[in-house]
Amino acid sequence: MTTGQSYDLVVVGAGIIGLATAYAARQRGLRVAVVERHAQCIGASVRNFGFVTVTGQRRGEHWQRARRTRDVWQHVAAQAGIAVIHQGLHMLAQRPEAAHLLEAYLKTEMGEGCRLLSAADAARELPWLQAGQAVLHSPHELRVESRDAIPRLARWLELDFGVDFFWSTPVLGIDLPQVHTSQGVLSAGHCVVCPGHDLNTLYPDATAQAGIRLCTLQMLRVMPGQAVKLPGAVMSDLSMARYEGYADLPEAAPLKALLQAQQAEHLRWGVHLIAVQSADGSMVVGDSHVYGDAEAPFGRSDVDDLILGELHRVLRLPGAQVTERWTGSYASAQEPVFKTLVAPGVAVGIVTGGTGASTSFAFAEELLDLALGI
Ligand SMILES: Cc1cc2nc3c(=O)[nH]c(=O)nc-3n(C[C@H](O)[C@H](O)[C@H](O)COP(=O)(O)OP(=O)(O)OC[C@H]3O[C@@H](n4cnc5c(N)ncnc54)[C@H](O)[C@@H]3O)c2cc1C
Repeated sequence: MTTGQSYDLVVVGAGIIGLATAYAARQRGLRVAVVERHAQCIGASVRNFGFVTVTGQRRGEHWQRARRTRDVWQHVAAQAGIAVIHQGLHMLAQRPEAAHLLEAYLKTEMGEGCRLLSAADAARELPWLQAGQAVLHSPHELRVESRDAIPRLARWLELDFGVDFFWSTPVLGIDLPQVHTSQGVLSAGHCVVCPGHDLNTLYPDATAQAGIRLCTLQMLRVMPGQAVKLPGAVMSDLSMARYEGYADLPEAAPLKALLQAQQAEHLRWGVHLIAVQSADGSMVVGDSHVYGDAEAPFGRSDVDDLILGELHRVLRLPGAQVTERWTGSYASAQEPVFKTLVAPGVAVGIVTGGTGASTSFAFAEELLDLALGI
């Protein structure tokens, strides 16, 4: 870094929100630098499912963000050489109450393009799915392998889009036009801070006032014992109680009551099911949710067992083996996003609903407008 290097926009953080902001800014012709504390992205953006979800997102503005983001992901993935590993979602209703909820969902505007499969269609499309009451198919989702996709996106922004990256460089303070880093001072017209769940370094008062806490998740990689091909992501009843697009509908009440009676331990640990597949046939499976003022430092094997039990209630996977376990954390609040102008030209943005992969590109456009005063 050369002290005084000058940019229209400095982005803090090279997670998906920071990268999406850099992309949006280059689309508008701005000179952009991204400054990242670590030598590479190691946060939520590489630990997630890479599941870009539309169906199930909170109704209204956030669902629209997801639709826009999915479209940009599709375009960017093709340009940057990021493989879209599968598309769409099968949502298995295991109980009549869940099937009823899916029928209600389909009648809303969010059901556009989705359909309920007959038992025969479900068996043909997804022969490994356990029997249930109904299956909803959504065509809108896509999946990337985040641990490969995020570094590839950063390289593409650098090589093809002329974004400058400063890795292993914490930003210590911002006083425009000066951005103070561990390596020196950059000059910036504007700044967008995308700190993920690092709530203590820059602007801790703003995030504390917004009531933002941390949520820690347990994740697994599972190798099926035989060749299995998922056409898209798979979810089930517990997910309908978590994802607000379904859970906020009045028809969700009977399902939530039943889950409380039948799967209280899953609800206690925030366990639901997402299963997505990787190119080598393994599946990324999760997850659980523990909330607190700090990351939960220790993973629990009983919580992993709850996740695996749910996996086997949803998919027939004899001989499946766990090959990887990890945790990840994100910043969490009542509202799905937090954005604020902390000083003229300086915006802070965090996706606080655990849906940053799905809403990043649209949210980044909002953050850029905020910083630029548009
Ligand atoms: C296990 C897990 C599974 C998930 N699954 C999904 C999913 O399938 N679909 C979905 O849509 N969402 C999912 N999410 C949520 C999604 O991953 C997050 O919302 C998203 O990755 C947040 O991106 P980010 O850029 O804000 O944060 P991060 O990826 O954490 O990046 C923030 C970056 O900012 C850097 N930084 C912070 N402060 C500074 C500073 N002062 N100076 C320099 N650098 C700084 C950090 O080092 C970090 O690299 C999941 C999250 C987790 C944890």
